[in-house]
Amino acid sequence: MALPLSTQIEYLNGIGAQRAALLQKELHIYTLYDLLSHYPFRYVDRTKFHNIADVQSDIFYIQLKIKIDAIHTTGDSKKKRLIAKVSDNSGSMELIWFQGIQYVEKKLDVGQTYIVFGKPNEYKGTYSIMHPELEVINATQSVTEPGLQPVYPTTELLRKRFLDTKGLERIIKEALKLINEHEVKEFLSQEIVQNLSLISPYEALVNIHFPRDESQCQRAIYRLKLEELFWLQLNLQLTKDQFASHYKGFIFSKLGNNFTTFYEKHLPFALTNAQKRVVKEIRKDVLMGKQMNRLLQGDVGSGKTIVALIIALMALDNGYQACVMAPTDILARQHLESFTTLLKQLPISIKLLTGSVVSSVRKLALAELASGELQIVIGTHALIEDPVIFKNLGLVIIDEQHRFGVEQRSKLWRKNISPPHVLVMTATPIPRTLAMTFWGDLEVSVIDELPPGRTPIATHHYYEKDRLKLFQFLKYQIELGQQVYIVYPLIEESETLDLKNVFEGQEVIENEFPRPKYNVAIMHGRMKQVDKEFEMERFKQNKTQLMVSTTVIEVGVNVPNASVMVIENAERFGLSQLHQLRGRVGRGAAKSFCFLMTKDALGADSRHRMKVMCTSNDGFFIAEEDLKLRGPGNIQGTQQSGLQNFKLADLKTDGDIVLTARTLAQDILKNDPLLHHKSNALLRIELARKNKPSTWGKIS
Ligand code: ADP
Ligand code: MG
Repeated sequence: MALPLSTQIEYLNGIGAQRAALLQKELHIYTLYDLLSHYPFRYVDRTKFHNIADVQSDIFYIQLKIKIDAIHTTGDSKKKRLIAKVSDNSGSMELIWFQGIQYVEKKLDVGQTYIVFGKPNEYKGTYSIMHPELEVINATQSVTEPGLQPVYPTTELLRKRFLDTKGLERIIKEALKLINEHEVKEFLSQEIVQNLSLISPYEALVNIHFPRDESQCQRAIYRLKLEELFWLQLNLQLTKDQFASHYKGFIFSKLGNNFTTFYEKHLPFALTNAQKRVVKEIRKDVLMGKQMNRLLQGDVGSGKTIVALIIALMALDNGYQACVMAPTDILARQHLESFTTLLKQLPISIKLLTGSVVSSVRKLALAELASGELQIVIGTHALIEDPVIFKNLGLVIIDEQHRFGVEQRSKLWRKNISPPHVLVMTATPIPRTLAMTFWGDLEVSVIDELPPGRTPIATHHYYEKDRLKLFQFLKYQIELGQQVYIVYPLIEESETLDLKNVFEGQEVIENEFPRPKYNVAIMHGRMKQVDKEFEMERFKQNKTQLMVSTTVIEVGVNVPNASVMVIENAERFGLSQLHQLRGRVGRGAAKSFCFLMTKDALGADSRHRMKVMCTSNDGFFIAEEDLKLRGPGNIQGTQQSGLQNFKLADLKTDGDIVLTARTLAQDILKNDPLLHHKSNALLRIELARKNKPSTWGKIS
């Protein structure tokens, strides 16, 4: 009789209460289902044999047919080891044991032939295997079952309780005997199964553990990856649809005075086609009567601010207030400046509301927000803190999204009876696969075009030996009237990492660029807000020519006259961060430069990163490369989602499966938005079981 997948594992043969408790604690395995979802991370082919002569240390596991030539022990009682010299026709090597020596010694006979299985190690050109698996060749039975043998992740504690990979294999085999295809039903339609030539979920579950061959293994993995991603996508799409139908959105139907006057008279430049397209996309959203949740992706300098401003004007024209939130005080002030400059001809009230605004000014702004007199408010997190009350908040623009926690964004909903439209702007281009996964519940707009006249930032990779050349170049640029950023990775010297610290850097730079000819500014995260602003202001006014800084200048800072970026210890930064930093220059008319300074000895990854930076200015390309190099967990913005915990799917390589899963989910919901059809009953049940309700999908 088959058992349900929800059966607790202690009822399995050979497990019992103690080992069950250990499996729960160590691997979070509670049920048959959990156990069967403990997939192998690798397979070994036990039908293949190696020759000793072919052994290399990069082979994970080898299987040999060998004869034992001699056995001896070495070392004292504390460090005793047993060594067997073995050979085949091609060569010889050693097998070594540190533990259970007495027991093993009894099993070994000189002159006898064995099958040996294990991981080879190299020491000074000779190979050995420590604690190999060993089987006597028995003429009458075939010692190895055909097919690939699973290798399971396990832990030290489990190993001690005989739940090493072999032990896990044994109980998983037991578990598979207890279920049948009725327990693991097909939940996809016949049509989908055929179109994608999928194997059944039951077959997939059996074959991922015990595949006959490589191709069977691949098909099982594909099916299970697809399932993993499909449940996520179905959940995301459902949440998005339900959310949209639950909340009505404000309708910005009028294109009134503010918008028209600005658009016709005060636009400082012609919008790029990409900007126009995005404005249209957003305009469509705010006319639909649904609450908008849109992510606006655009590389640094692509011109997101003006788009934000235009949308804000639409809100104002329809009698709503708009708010713009930035991650730091400096950026909020910068937005305030851009907005006030661009809108100076229009009778619009705009104010700053950040932690650093003095209390009397703050009080007034708060009162005006509540009365509706204040139309656009620009600020930081302080904006969503409790005392802030809006009369009629219709639009929220969040700049540089990844600095805002999910928690903070969710607070926005409490500001209104009806949630405002939300436009999230990010300058960290996100690879499509990730966007679909982590922001699957958001609509996405992309500004994929830079304003005209920009020349790419010439990027060079320099070593320490090039420093003199670098300093000379900086002096030359400063003579031309340009300004320079020099960025260091850390604030304080780290004993273990031996990083140049920013203070040391300041000293070096001040020596090299002495007063009064040059003025050097310093900026780091531990400085007081007022001091940072002071330095920023002086730099803007070109009173300082060199700014020595930590990464606090990474996001959004806009000083068009700064055209040279030097990044020290560039090998310490990820690609996306390098790209962000580089984006601080190339904002004005002058030709811009970026120098990546690194130590001489670089690993392959670092070299690749430097090369990508030197050859590309395309943020999306760079983000894709970053994803390939570092995986999704390290891409900005994804950490907080906690969603990179797929068992099988790998967002680095499985972009096409993500797309398939998403299309499947969308197609199903298009015909049956709430999964009420009979034919989707199983889907509904599975979804409830598999995807415990998540709240993160609702937010933004
Ligand atoms: P980001 O997308 O990084 O926020 P900004 O909105 O700060 O970019 O724009 C970068 C610079 O480009 C600003 O100085 C802005 O005035 C300018 N800019 C934006 N759009 C255009 C355009 N269509 N034509 C010319 N300059 C533009
Ligand atoms: Mg910006």
